[in-house]
Amino acid sequence: MCRFDSARDRTRPQEGERVKNRFAGGCTRCSVLVMPDGGFLRKNDEGWEAWCVTCQSLDELAESEDFDPENLMLPTVPPSGSATTLDLRVLGMTRACWKCGENTLCLIGLYPNRPARGYVGLHTTDNEKTMELCQLLAEREGRAELAAGVKSRYSRTMRERQLANGCRRCDALQGNFPVHEEALGRVASGGVDGLDTLFVASCPVLEWQAVIYDFGGGVIAI
Ligand SMILES: [Zn+2]
Ligand SMILES: [Zn+2]
Repeated sequence: MCRFDSARDRTRPQEGERVKNRFAGGCTRCSVLVMPDGGFLRKNDEGWEAWCVTCQSLDELAESEDFDPENLMLPTVPPSGSATTLDLRVLGMTRACWKCGENTLCLIGLYPNRPARGYVGLHTTDNEKTMELCQLLAEREGRAELAAGVKSRYSRTMRERQLANGCRRCDALQGNFPVHEEALGRVASGGVDGLDTLFVASCPVLEWQAVIYDFGGGVIAI
């Protein structure tokens, strides 16, 4: 059913077995392109999955007793045998401001431009790391008008300062959670295309994996 099938005929590994990867493919966990002889292949019910070295080692760590997602030490170098960048869709959504009623554009999240087979996860800006990366990518792409809408603002609901979208007309804070909830509704009916792709940016793998491995919430399974 896929390009990994020929490997199955040769090696016939058992369910859950991990073998050296001989084909290029996107990492199931993070969508980074894994080169031939880089990363690992894993078999599941539906066939073969490629895993980059970083995701493979973190997945093994997750099975161990001292796994602590709050204090995860991510590698400081990109996974060997994989691409060092990947293209991300920076997603936006226009919605009515709760205060002035005017339509305003919010930065809502990130999704791989070419998601790997089996990849799950639209990361929304109801997460500080995702919001920071959205803003950073907008700045790098020269989209200052998009980056400028995001500021550290005091949320009375959350009782803390947080990076959040603001209304482009009246500057009122557009709460990260309500924006996430509205995005969830649009994604439920229209998939990723239920949101607007503002631009596609090349992102260093390490920056993206820091978002993937932040367990502070703000993920839509898709
Ligand atoms: Zn990966
Ligand atoms: Zn407003």
